[in-house]
Amino acid sequence: MPSLEIPVSKNQYIEMEITGLGHAGEGVGKYQGFTLFVNGALPGERAKVKVIKLNKNYGYGRLIEVLEKSSERVEPLCAVYQQCGGCQLQHLSYQEQLVQKRRIVEDNLLRIGGIKDVIIHDTLGMDKPWNYRNKSQVPIAEREGGLIAGFYAKGTHDVIQMNQCLIQQEENDRIVQLTREIAENLGISAYDERTHKGILRHIVARIGVNTGELMLILVATSEQFPQKEQLIKQLTTVVPNLSSLILNINPARTNVILGKRSVTLWGSDVIYDTIGNIRFAISPLSFYQVNPEQTKVLYDKALEYTGLTGTENVIDAYCGIGTISLFLAKRAKHVYGVEVVPEAIVDAKKNAKLNGIDNVTFVVGEAEKVIPKWQQEGLQIDVLVVDPPRKGLDEALIRTIIELKPARMVYVSCNPSTLARDLRLLVDGGFEVQEVQPVDMFPQTMHVECCVLLIYEGK
Ligand code: SAH
Repeated sequence: MPSLEIPVSKNQYIEMEITGLGHAGEGVGKYQGFTLFVNGALPGERAKVKVIKLNKNYGYGRLIEVLEKSSERVEPLCAVYQQCGGCQLQHLSYQEQLVQKRRIVEDNLLRIGGIKDVIIHDTLGMDKPWNYRNKSQVPIAEREGGLIAGFYAKGTHDVIQMNQCLIQQEENDRIVQLTREIAENLGISAYDERTHKGILRHIVARIGVNTGELMLILVATSEQFPQKEQLIKQLTTVVPNLSSLILNINPARTNVILGKRSVTLWGSDVIYDTIGNIRFAISPLSFYQVNPEQTKVLYDKALEYTGLTGTENVIDAYCGIGTISLFLAKRAKHVYGVEVVPEAIVDAKKNAKLNGIDNVTFVVGEAEKVIPKWQQEGLQIDVLVVDPPRKGLDEALIRTIIELKPARMVYVSCNPSTLARDLRLLVDGGFEVQEVQPVDMFPQTMHVECCVLLIYEGK
């Protein structure tokens, strides 16, 4: 087949209309039928663009000038918005962010999953879409003999000092900088990726927003942390709501922030938080949703979609510390949770006890291995909830789900493209997608979470 003629050449200046947003929040449009991605441009805008890179079917342009401005364009609030890259949509009004997120979901379902004619509700957003994150993970580096704590400049591993992140709980920012200061005064060295020398890699702060409890994690290359006693003494003096001080050991040459092993230096091994009227213990290595206010919105929607009446057997796959399982348990006969991180399952069991909930079973393992085993053992289930990481469901698990034929399935997804891929397979296996609810868990960023209701039609 002859390859399509590309109507532009590298370094050419063109004028084009922007019609949508790409994966990373960049503007997308067509120039004479050829797709170009333009960072910083917004849907509805007309822009002057310099073509900088061309692939076979699409290319990239640099925004030279906005010729016709979108009425939804706003001034980004953050001073380091351009350098950081952690947020991608601060230059778009919040109302329009919600509109675009719904559109991205709709577009993925259609383009990747061939799924149309389903109800996709308006994105559920926040009243105050700032300072929502309960967890801050800050890289540390040395500059002129001192320590800096901030973020990696976009596309690099160069640390830039930052005192305030506008999507972060203010308390977390304050604690991170206090810790940086104390560590600096004690002469603690920062880890250097290039030389693989130095001690302190990251400072991680996690707050239980509804309890005020705070966990501080020092990620270091070795358990031999210098000045440990002094550090504990000073931190516990200046941070009155510190509940848990953890040393996490990560000696590996890796981008992964936390190592596998943690030791408690002071206080409790866990912190507590509540969602609705359920209390959760959270340990350093366990996943816990970062936006507690919207987590409640998401879980309420998941609960509604399950249609539970009290007689159903439920599986909660990818259950983490049992948050969704315990949220559903009051309205179910029994909930079976499965999760691959052993520490999370320890937390999940603890959490069931803590809340006096006994109609739950938690098992460590991969969902794609444990659920087929339950199936072989004859477990009959009525409702299946899945909440996988970004890569979506394993194909083997999808085959098992199609054999299990739960009357209802609720798919909680943080990635519309893998969601679309999986929904196609589930629809081909006899499920019908009833409705899709996008929820904005991550305002100012491109991320969008969805809660999807599927009904088994194939019987
Ligand atoms: N439902 C939980 C956690 C969702 S995050 C909540 O809302 O808090 C996804 C979880 O899937 C993580 O805890 C991760 O450890 C887990 N996970 C990743 N791969 C898995 C697999 N193959 N089987 C089971 N759990 C897995």
